[in-house]
Amino acid sequence: MVAGLVNALAFICLAGLLALVIYRTVIDGQALSAQIGPAIGLIGAVIVRSISQVAQERFGQLASARVRQRVRSELLEQWAARGPVNLAGRSSATLANHWVEQVEALDGYFVRYLPQQWLALLVPLSILAVVFWLDWLAALFLLIAAPLIPLFMALIGMSAERLSQQHVLEAGRLAGHFLDRVRSLTTLQLFGQVAQASADVTHTAEQYRAVTMRTLRVAFLSSAVLEFFASVAIAVVAMYIGFGLLGYIDFGPAPQLTLFSGLFILLLAPEFFQPLRNLAQHYHDRAAALGAADALVGLPPTEHGYPLRRRALSAGPRTNSVIAEHLKAGYPGRSAVLEDVSLSIDRGEVVALVGPSGSGKSTLLSCLAGFIQPEAGDVTLFGQAPGAEPVAWLGQKPFLIKGSWVDNLRLIAPDAELSAMHAALEAVGLKDVVAAQPQGLDTPLGEGGRGLSGGQAQRLALARVWLIDAELVLLDEPTASLDPESEAEVIEALLALARSGKTLLIATHHPAILAMADRALRLQDGRLTDD
Ligand code: ADP
Ligand code: MG
Repeated sequence: MVAGLVNALAFICLAGLLALVIYRTVIDGQALSAQIGPAIGLIGAVIVRSISQVAQERFGQLASARVRQRVRSELLEQWAARGPVNLAGRSSATLANHWVEQVEALDGYFVRYLPQQWLALLVPLSILAVVFWLDWLAALFLLIAAPLIPLFMALIGMSAERLSQQHVLEAGRLAGHFLDRVRSLTTLQLFGQVAQASADVTHTAEQYRAVTMRTLRVAFLSSAVLEFFASVAIAVVAMYIGFGLLGYIDFGPAPQLTLFSGLFILLLAPEFFQPLRNLAQHYHDRAAALGAADALVGLPPTEHGYPLRRRALSAGPRTNSVIAEHLKAGYPGRSAVLEDVSLSIDRGEVVALVGPSGSGKSTLLSCLAGFIQPEAGDVTLFGQAPGAEPVAWLGQKPFLIKGSWVDNLRLIAPDAELSAMHAALEAVGLKDVVAAQPQGLDTPLGEGGRGLSGGQAQRLALARVWLIDAELVLLDEPTASLDPESEAEVIEALLALARSGKTLLIATHHPAILAMADRALRLQDGRLTDD
């Protein structure tokens, strides 16, 4: 903003010196060679202007980069506080869109709009002061024209804002829609629905286009209104100065107009409107940023009434067991899933958790992992609050990204050494599989572990558990979606994990896992009983 103001002041000097040089040579008949002083001033003003322009851009970019970085880290914190169970209701495409594009949409607001908002006030005021000193009647014309512009812009801007918010919404919807279709491509093909799906995508994209065009139309309309009023006002000032210089106007300060003051005012008049024009140009930045901000803060902390995860409490003394006492937990809008659950698992124990489907096994594991906050009762993992220290989690489907084997292992254990990775893969029985890969650990995998069998994918996920030093491993029906052969392989890997001294809690029905467990807990009607 300061740089922008310096820029405007430099322009005022430039216009004044230019008018002075022309006045002296044309009216006073001085030789051009006598104008060295003003000429040096002119060059100086041009240099100051260039420097301040660059400075304004640079500082704006810096500020915007910092703001975006902060917004991103706050988003991350929010997501972490909500936890995976709570976020499961949101499309990952929408979240990704927020993370990348909506945050990026804040850029223009901080680089351009915010400083311009102040410049649009300060620069016209300083120009008005100079013009007032030169000729108060000309200043009056400018003063009258100036408020009309913001007035009309505000009227148009209001609808622009609403449109822009719709635009953001539509973009998120398109992203989610498209991702859903891509993910279920196989299903669509099986049912012969590909043509229908592409028609759907076309339709949604068409809606997005329509909203975009409407937003643009309003943006163009607002700048047309602005240009019109600015041109009319400049023309009025020009006519006044022209007729004043010719001596046709006897009113007010007109007879005292000289070529210097007249030219000076004429040079300043467009510059008077320039900041407002810039503001109008950047107005869509504001609308876009507001739309994005709406989407970003649009997740209230307790959306759906889910309580937020409690922040990790200060570390207590370490103990040797995982303890839950009188745990009561559930989901909003329904009766508690866990009524009164107490359990105690010693370090190194392998405990199976059984119970009919829907009895709350996954819910109990989520409570222990800190993904959901119990309504009542206490959980401590070796003396710490859930979420204070990493726990390993493995569900029915492992989370594997598109990338190499190494990428997938590093996702959870960024600092792991290659030798440790090989050891982990050997422990879960994947050594031969890796050896058979064309590029070893650098062989690429598809999203969701495409290219691996279900059992191999699950064991790759288990290999991560070896790489991180989480003591508690929570497994939610790790073999449920596997064929018998893969099942046996995963159980083999689990056995190795159990022998390594980690504490395992496994929700399962599988007899082989039940056999390897030290004991089993049965969950029924929201309560635990020893099996
Ligand atoms: P299990 O893993 O033993 O099959 P869950 O813990 O997944 O059981 O589910 C217990 C109950 O909680 C079920 O009745 C289920 O419908 C409900 N439930 C699970 N997840 C949610 C959720 N995110 N929102 C609302 N209800 C849920
Ligand atoms: Mg479950």
